[in-house]
Amino acid sequence: MNKNVVACKVVSLLLTFIVSFNSYAQSSISDIRVSPSNDSTRIVVDVSKQTNFSYFSLQSPSRLVIDFKETDRKFRFNSVNNSSNLIKKMRHSTPKLASDMRMVIELNKAVTTQIFSLQPSADFGHRIVIDLTDPNPPSVVTNAAAPKRDKDIVVVIDAGHGGVDPGSIGPKGTYEKNITLSISKMLEKQINDEPGLRAVMTRTGDYYISPNDRPDFATRENADLLVSIHADAFTTPQPRGGSVWVLSKGRADSELGRLLERTERTSELLGSAADVIGDRDTERYFAETIFNMSMDLSRASSYDISNKVIKEMKKVTKMHKKIPQSASLAVLTAPETPSILVEVGFISNPQEEKNLNWQAYRQQLADSLFKSIKLFFRNAPPEGTLWAQERDNQPRTHKVRSGESLSVIAKRYSVDLGKLREANNIRGDLVRIGQVLAIPSY
Ligand SMILES: [Zn+2]
Repeated sequence: MNKNVVACKVVSLLLTFIVSFNSYAQSSISDIRVSPSNDSTRIVVDVSKQTNFSYFSLQSPSRLVIDFKETDRKFRFNSVNNSSNLIKKMRHSTPKLASDMRMVIELNKAVTTQIFSLQPSADFGHRIVIDLTDPNPPSVVTNAAAPKRDKDIVVVIDAGHGGVDPGSIGPKGTYEKNITLSISKMLEKQINDEPGLRAVMTRTGDYYISPNDRPDFATRENADLLVSIHADAFTTPQPRGGSVWVLSKGRADSELGRLLERTERTSELLGSAADVIGDRDTERYFAETIFNMSMDLSRASSYDISNKVIKEMKKVTKMHKKIPQSASLAVLTAPETPSILVEVGFISNPQEEKNLNWQAYRQQLADSLFKSIKLFFRNAPPEGTLWAQERDNQPRTHKVRSGESLSVIAKRYSVDLGKLREANNIRGDLVRIGQVLAIPSY
């Protein structure tokens, strides 16, 4: 997070603008990839050079027409693997100018469109990205009663900023986007090396992702946690230290409202439960209650893990804020995924900028995040995961204290008194203070 987000947006717009005035020889399209999600589809067009474009929409039937300026027409659309339910077909059409290439996307429904150019980076060349968003997407929760889940605990690591958005810039010219990606990759490795945990990165290189795509990513991955990594900045060099952020209650409430508005039929949210309820008002009430509960649960978990992160992080760095902070941040709005944003320090502070450029220091920060994530999930592994299984299979023991009888202990662990006797080879009720008993798991 930084105060330069707006400035960065302007910069990225300016870049797009400059790009569009910079073409002189014909461009050509080498590849088009379609990546659908529940409520949107991203089309990435690889072009041989900076390419100017313009576009417009047509209704009934819905179409999106894009003119690639000074571009040849050699690309074959039938080579594109289209698995998006928003796109019926992609094809050529005759452009107004003979030197242009006109692409028509036939749509299955009206969508909102965003098109932008991406600057080449170490990872890829010139690209034009077309984002189609479904204003009325099908619900993500198809069956509230039996959510599918992964055996691994899934942690989405979100490296802040990227591509045209550098984030904050340190006095020595350090880009926040590079620091966040480096720490994210270190954390990713540690998580993936731990059996039962799996990390997924929102970005793996230096490219731009909009803040709204990041929580959607966590929802799509059925993530158990989203950790967004940032470095802070201020107008004066003094402030320093880390902080951890969770979603504010106000933003959580307004997101809940937005979610319910977006869902035409609340029964879609409830899955098979709706058949039992059978009337719309009650359905809405239940949908609201369920979402409220999962939002509250996510926020409580976010707060819990934030405290653990602060406890570990303060062994590595000074903390700017000693308790979790809350704010209205788009990246933290995944309704069912506990989400935290970690500011690892102030890149605007010369000493911290120096530290953040030191690999061993970044590793220490990643270590502290890893430790706290591990601790959080060891304490409360999500049901259905390997870690939950391990917890359930762990042999339990009890050390007898003064005044405890065998029947009191049996009651406390909800086990059968006979089974407790059997497990410990005891005949009567007599136990000694300090005796360690095995507690059977049934
Ligand atoms: Zn940031």
